Amino acid sequence: MTSKYETHEHDVLIIGAGGAGLRAALEALNQGARVAVVCKSLLGKAHTVMAEGGLAAAMANVDKADGWKPHFRDTMRGGKLLNNWRMAQIHAQEAPDRVRELEQWGALFDRTPTGDILQRAFGGHTYKRLCHVGDRTGLEMIRTLQDRGVEMGFDVFMECTVTKLLKDGERVAGAFAYWRESGRFVTFKAKTVVIATGGIGKSWAVTSNSWECTGDGMALAYEAGAELLDMEFVQFHPTGMVWPPGVKGILVTEAVRGEGGILRNKVGERFMEKYDPKRMELSTRDVVARSIYTEVKEGRGSPHGGAFLDISHKPAEYVKKKLPSMYHQFKDLADVDITKVPMEVGPTCHYVMGGIRVDAETAESSIKGLFAAGEAAAGLHGANRLGGNSLSDLLVFGRRAGLAAAQYAKTASMPNLDAGQIEQSEREVLAPFERTEGENPYTVHHDLQETMQSLVGIFRVEEDLKKALVELDRLKARAGKVRVEGSRLFNSGWHLSRDLNCMLTVSQAATRAALARQESRGAHSRLDFPKTDEEVWGKKNNIIARKGDQMTLFEVPRSEMPDEIQQVLAEDK
Ligand SMILES: Cc1cc2nc3c(=O)[nH]c(=O)nc-3n(C[C@H](O)[C@H](O)[C@H](O)COP(=O)(O)OP(=O)(O)OC[C@H]3O[C@@H](n4cnc5c(N)ncnc54)[C@H](O)[C@@H]3O)c2cc1C
Repeated sequence: MTSKYETHEHDVLIIGAGGAGLRAALEALNQGARVAVVCKSLLGKAHTVMAEGGLAAAMANVDKADGWKPHFRDTMRGGKLLNNWRMAQIHAQEAPDRVRELEQWGALFDRTPTGDILQRAFGGHTYKRLCHVGDRTGLEMIRTLQDRGVEMGFDVFMECTVTKLLKDGERVAGAFAYWRESGRFVTFKAKTVVIATGGIGKSWAVTSNSWECTGDGMALAYEAGAELLDMEFVQFHPTGMVWPPGVKGILVTEAVRGEGGILRNKVGERFMEKYDPKRMELSTRDVVARSIYTEVKEGRGSPHGGAFLDISHKPAEYVKKKLPSMYHQFKDLADVDITKVPMEVGPTCHYVMGGIRVDAETAESSIKGLFAAGEAAAGLHGANRLGGNSLSDLLVFGRRAGLAAAQYAKTASMPNLDAGQIEQSEREVLAPFERTEGENPYTVHHDLQETMQSLVGIFRVEEDLKKALVELDRLKARAGKVRVEGSRLFNSGWHLSRDLNCMLTVSQAATRAALARQESRGAHSRLDFPKTDEEVWGKKNNIIARKGDQMTLFEVPRSEMPDEIQQVLAEDK
């Protein structure tokens, strides 16, 4: 059937133009596939562009003892061993090649005096491992990948939001979307689809995430029948801005601590001595976030409810060179000169370790022909991600997803689009215009953010999580009745009415999984179950999947590590 809408046909459809989507596109093009990249924002503006501190790869340019094994160990230990070990191994082994390739394509990294790519220290990494471009690494990465993609010839559909994955039987067949500017509908027909839609931070009130991070890809995959893995693991970065209110949550890169930044409470105590005396400020994010939170709770917080982060002991020129964005961010937004006085910082919702369950080798999901990579996919980071391991994840698994999707497409026939599914997608998206009364989607979004912030935050308890589930059901009912006014021309209220459904789905998944996991591990801290329970919970992962209209949760055993990998893990350094 030919859709009544504008329809585009490709071998590989990539949803998302962040680091993962662009890297997937390059590999698929390399395999000779016809590739479409669809993204909500303009090309070059994906959330990855905000990445600051760097990308982790064991190049051993600064610390000669580094290699894939220490990187693998750090990643597994940081993830509290819940990681998919094979993904952690592939990631550690392939990341250096992905960085070299990026350099060959024109990325200009900071340099050592001998001309190698410079690497900096970061929390949880044993060695100096983060390749960086000042504190603007994501910008350089996106610029390089997109320039190459344009040169190689992918078709880009920007400011275009996908609202549904279309299926042909059990197989993915394409997607239904609308142009944000005109509100017109468009369908994509493809042999394979790669989801690279990023994170879910916009469900929380205080977040470092950009407006795009509404969990669309995870919700689309879930609705199409894919499994979501370990959604309870949501990372709160320890250092977001806390003041002034309008900028609360904006990230203060870990590179500040990597470059020697010191955390103090209001009485001047370097409090990390109490919580992790060995690693201090370079402890993992979960530990530092909980430490700041505890200092504030116990009355030793800074005036605006955070802690002080001080880099002013370093020469001003050095700070401006290594942390130019931080310098300008604080000067412009808070009128604070970080070369002279400390910053005020506090935890902010930053990253989700959970996501679409994928195969370690191919990044294929549990649906035929549907692949996922980057923050939308899960497995590599386990219970907690180390800083810098996301950008390398995007390159390593973005490439693998693009490769496998293109290879699959080589032998697959073009699927058929189903008129019924398209009509249903259209009805769902237009419903808020049909109602004569109903709430504004912004009010529901606000209430969702407050619910997740107060009940599914850094520290969790059964009572709060149960309350959150009841509240999420209510919010879902309210979201099903929202009304939008005006036309379909760039109507941001209408856009939000659709995003809201995705945010509610991923919020329910995160809360369900958080309630089920009766232990504390990595980023998931249960006050009522403060211990890490290796015997029971160390051996399994949580899966969320759809049965009919119901969200179901079940457990799967963690994949067994072969002996040689266990030995690598057991080695000390
Ligand atoms: C301020 C900040 C600094 C960071 N610094 C670092 C760092 O230094 N090192 C590191 O490793 N990690 C860092 N991170 C994390 C890292 O940036 C992200 O995890 C990563 O960029 C996610 O990349 P991605 O390709 O998966 O998705 P994104 O870059 O989020 O891209 C998602 C894409 O999907 C598109 N999209 C979403 N939904 C739809 C839809 N429905 N239809 C069509 N398109 C859609 C978006 O438009 C976008 O193009 C940082 C994060 C933040 C917030």
